[in-house]
Amino acid sequence: MNYVKDLETKANYSMTKKIISDALSAPEIDRESRTTVGKITSDDPRVVCKNVNVYYGENRAINDLSLEIGNHEVISFIGPSGCGKSTFLRTLNRMNDTIVSCRVSGEIKIDGKNIYDRDLDVVPLRAMVGMVFQKPNPFPKSIYDNVAYGPRIHGLAADKRELDAIVEESLKKAGLWDEVKDRLNDLGTGLSGGQQQRLCIARTIAVNPEIILMDEPCSALDPIATAKIEQLIAELSERFTIVIVTHSMQQAARVSQRTAYFHIGHLIEVGRTNDIFTNPKHPLTEDYITGRFG
Ligand code: ADP
Repeated sequence: MNYVKDLETKANYSMTKKIISDALSAPEIDRESRTTVGKITSDDPRVVCKNVNVYYGENRAINDLSLEIGNHEVISFIGPSGCGKSTFLRTLNRMNDTIVSCRVSGEIKIDGKNIYDRDLDVVPLRAMVGMVFQKPNPFPKSIYDNVAYGPRIHGLAADKRELDAIVEESLKKAGLWDEVKDRLNDLGTGLSGGQQQRLCIARTIAVNPEIILMDEPCSALDPIATAKIEQLIAELSERFTIVIVTHSMQQAARVSQRTAYFHIGHLIEVGRTNDIFTNPKHPLTEDYITGRFG
């Protein structure tokens, strides 16, 4: 028994010694450095971004950003307001195309295809890379028609029966079916805020996306509705890759496996969520997560 204890003590001692020596030998990162710290690659990449810059007119909002996003991963983008999280998120389905002054350089490949190729049709791209916005934005149509809208324009259902099945399935995946199944003809805009956001998620899911972008999807919701969306994110991650912008570090910690910290247009640090929050490497990340900045 004592022998085992002795071994344990030795193991603890050598582990502590290793942690201390690692910490002492780790090169200190210069606060002014804007080179991304951490593993930007993924073992199973779905999205590969290389040297991405985004400009609004003369202003560069994203600087030389490289990052891979893995299949079925949930990755959070965090950082102070105005640091470029939403701008970068929108590059992933070319939503920035709708802003006249906006220009993107560099390369973004999804499943090996450069989404900024001239010949690429953005309509199927935006179905494959769906987006859920900060404020729930259902159409002023029935609950049914909100979800059926995408499948109708993309011709995904051969007849009414197939469309009904897609609507039901999408509402089920979005955790809303039981609450609305008896009033599918009511207006989507008449639902509560949290239900509207789940309706928007059902609308996104209905066109068979691979990747779902979420831009602060809970910021207009109360804590109970927020908890439901967070639970939903965990369920959805089994089928989809999810990229979420959040101003809540607690939310990032709860929902994502990987976290990326942005600071004034730069991707400062990326890594496993737990590591980012317990052992940040860049001084700017540490300032942010300890509340000294932002
Ligand atoms: P975040 O999502 O981190 O709050 P944004 O991506 O919204 O940051 O903004 C990054 C920078 O880009 C900010 O300086 C912001 O003012 C600028 N920006 C965002 N949207 C536009 C736009 N439509 N036109 C011009 N500048 C914009």
